Amino acid sequence: MDHRVTYCRICEPMCGLIAAVENERLVSLRPDPDHPLSQGRACPKGIAFTDIQNDPDRVLTPLRRGPDGEFQEVSWDSALDDIAARLSAILARHGGAAVGQYIGNPAAFGYSTALWPGLFMARIGSRHLYSAGSQDINSRFVASKLLYGANSQLPFPDLPRTDFLLMLGANPLVSRGSAVRAPRIKDDLTAIVRRGGRVVVIDPRRTETARAHEHIAVEPDSDAWLLLSMLQVIFADGLQDSAAIERQSTGAASLRNLCAPFTPESTADRTGLPADVVRALARDFATAPSATAYGRTGACLGHHGTLVSFLLDALTLVTGNLDRPGGTLMSHAVIPLEDLGERSGNFSYAQTHSRIGDLPDVNGTFPAAVMAEEITTPGAGQLRALFILAGNPVLSVPNGAALESALQELELLVSLDFYVNETNQHADYILPSTTMLERDDLPIVFAACCPTVFVQSTEAVLTPYGQARQEWEIYDDIAKRMKLSLFATGPLERLNPVLALLDRKGLLKMTPKRLMGILLRTGAYGDRFGLRRDGLNLDKLRANPHGLVLAEHAPTGVLEKVVRHPGGKVRLDPPEIVAEVGRLGTRGHADPEFPLLAIGIREVRSQNSWMHNSPTLMKGDRRQRTRINPRDAGAAGVVDGGRVRITSQQGHIETDVLITDEVLAGTIAVPHGWGHRGGWQLANSVPGANVNELTSSRPEDLEQLAGMAVLNGVAVRIEAAS
Ligand code: SF4
Repeated sequence: MDHRVTYCRICEPMCGLIAAVENERLVSLRPDPDHPLSQGRACPKGIAFTDIQNDPDRVLTPLRRGPDGEFQEVSWDSALDDIAARLSAILARHGGAAVGQYIGNPAAFGYSTALWPGLFMARIGSRHLYSAGSQDINSRFVASKLLYGANSQLPFPDLPRTDFLLMLGANPLVSRGSAVRAPRIKDDLTAIVRRGGRVVVIDPRRTETARAHEHIAVEPDSDAWLLLSMLQVIFADGLQDSAAIERQSTGAASLRNLCAPFTPESTADRTGLPADVVRALARDFATAPSATAYGRTGACLGHHGTLVSFLLDALTLVTGNLDRPGGTLMSHAVIPLEDLGERSGNFSYAQTHSRIGDLPDVNGTFPAAVMAEEITTPGAGQLRALFILAGNPVLSVPNGAALESALQELELLVSLDFYVNETNQHADYILPSTTMLERDDLPIVFAACCPTVFVQSTEAVLTPYGQARQEWEIYDDIAKRMKLSLFATGPLERLNPVLALLDRKGLLKMTPKRLMGILLRTGAYGDRFGLRRDGLNLDKLRANPHGLVLAEHAPTGVLEKVVRHPGGKVRLDPPEIVAEVGRLGTRGHADPEFPLLAIGIREVRSQNSWMHNSPTLMKGDRRQRTRINPRDAGAAGVVDGGRVRITSQQGHIETDVLITDEVLAGTIAVPHGWGHRGGWQLANSVPGANVNELTSSRPEDLEQLAGMAVLNGVAVRIEAAS
């Protein structure tokens, strides 16, 4: 038995793992005790990945849909030849504007997974790029664009040093931290309290984190009103840090005026919070020795997610807590891929707009909610060929039923995945991709949101099972068949003409690994090709498989360098935010036909839609249960352990019921990622319902600044179901 060091790539903490391997088969995974950050911790999902790796339902051979509608195994050559030919024909007939790509959340955790596919789509002039970001984090990116002029800037809480952590719509005891890399976040939170600080959780549900710390239960989707009121109190009481405001920002006077009408008394109805609670919270936050405000999906997925993310950082800045120890820190990359993206203009916002709904692009992508209509609406730019990479949008995009039906109208649908899921069961091809253990890696996307400066690389710890291939190789192979060069004549040519020339002349074959190696060596910690003796290169990372701590604390005092607005100052009064505040309250809150508000839940043994086929994670009486307050359950005649029918303006679903006062009366909480009927037998046996049959994909129902799906605060009614 061989024990190989690696790290988990399911979610942001990227915990260290040891893989026990025998005859190139994975026997087990266990936490790596020598990992400097996770120190012997991993969650049930990381350990249960053994089930996924060895899953008999895994797709290990390319599959093609036959004339009878059933999938047949085909060779790679036959699949790739046909895909390249059909794609070339579509491009010849309709151009790149007819081709699209959807990238799911797992792609964020592999450095090469989305890189070559992105280059490929840019090379063919695709106009239809979508990602899970529009159901997760795009509103955070837009807030950063407006505040800092940089979408890729993801500020995060300085957990080891803060005295006051305010959390909105985040449940890190279950998520293990999202958009922040802190593998031992439970201990970090406990340590804040132990050293005399406070952890305050704002959430409509008494979450696992709320139970362990101070909880303020708010009405769903009311965070914008709460934060505006906190800012109003801080300005009215003179608690702002005027020196920090002057030094770091522009537009504070406008922000003050914008907040002025939102006194805690005026927002109490909306938030459900007495004015004195909001005043005390604002004063305590502003006067704490250090404080940081952090929000995640709960904050990002309401009707005003961009505004909420914006106000979290504004609150931190106005109280003098941005870019300082114990406050909110600016993300900092060891491998400067984000910096490259910013400089090349790849992290765009509102540079183009969607054909359907006229919604702004975020990082070149459009809201996935409009994909269905982009397929079904004739005219120039109609979406006719779609690649789906590590995604299951039928379960994750609003109005999944409309998308499922639309997918069947495509001329070409190709999925790169290791399961037959609810989306790709309609594909022309499913191409088997590698798991995280079958590829080398470097953490990129969320690695920059870490209170410690840390870097780790991993080699593949397993030879790919069956015929699985890495995603970048698959796109490279399709490009070759289409006689396209992704590097020498693609978008990277503009970025680095010298490397492009070497690639074109065949002197240096560019691969994602080679590109990362160059970026690492030229980045802030790199060896500058030998000029800096202690600097990093890939060999040095390989020699330190558990990873390297480069600095105990992330840097502070860097704001001026990372802000891309003129003068290096944060902008507190962008017109988009002023307009969004003007839109507050224009949506009806209480609809007598749909009197309850639905929110989502993240579960410790689920990872969106793709881990319900693991026997370890599905052990016991595992099923999807809607949480309902006893008062609402009694009024609707719904009983604990029974079934409930949930109806929204969009549709209806039925689920099992858990009656609990962890949700406020008037709120129900429905776990997402269920509704299985793909090629995964265990998942299909406990299918649950797709919560996105309740959510709307109409452009006017999306959050307006980022085009985010509104998955929290969905108006519904309930009744007992048999
Ligand atoms: S917390 Fe995330 S990264 Fe860590 S073991 Fe669990 S799934 Fe993997």
